Amino acid sequence: MENCIFCKIIKGEIPSSKVYESEKVLAFNDINPVAPVHVLIVPKEHIVNINDLTQDNAGVLADIHLAAKEIAKKLGISDQGFRLITNCGSGAGQTVFHLHYHLIGGKDLGSKLL
Ligand code: AMP
Repeated sequence: MENCIFCKIIKGEIPSSKVYESEKVLAFNDINPVAPVHVLIVPKEHIVNINDLTQDNAGVLADIHLAAKEIAKKLGISDQGFRLITNCGSGAGQTVFHLHYHLIGGKDLGSKLL
């Protein structure tokens, strides 16, 4: 966790472009956006990925989804539509091992995931 880049962002040790914060969640712009809107929503608690979820820590998923709703509204893409994605494990493309959801939108994303 000392070397976790998202923990450092949450602690303010590394700068980020913050778009939303609540007691349990922080959201900031992705440094390498793939769409006009590309926000990362992360729990403040260090959770590795979905494989690390338990009955005790999974409540934060509701906070993450509510954060996604608020951010989409704030950025004006609620009606247009957006995608919320999490990569679980290196085989799925996870490169930062702190649970995060990509909120992507601001353009037509099409109907295919891959
Ligand atoms: P993933 O591949 O699902 O683990 O996504 C990690 C994401 O974190 C990538 O989209 C990166 O562009 C993004 N990222 C890495 N470092 C930073 C950072 N310091 N600030 C914002 N986004 C970052």
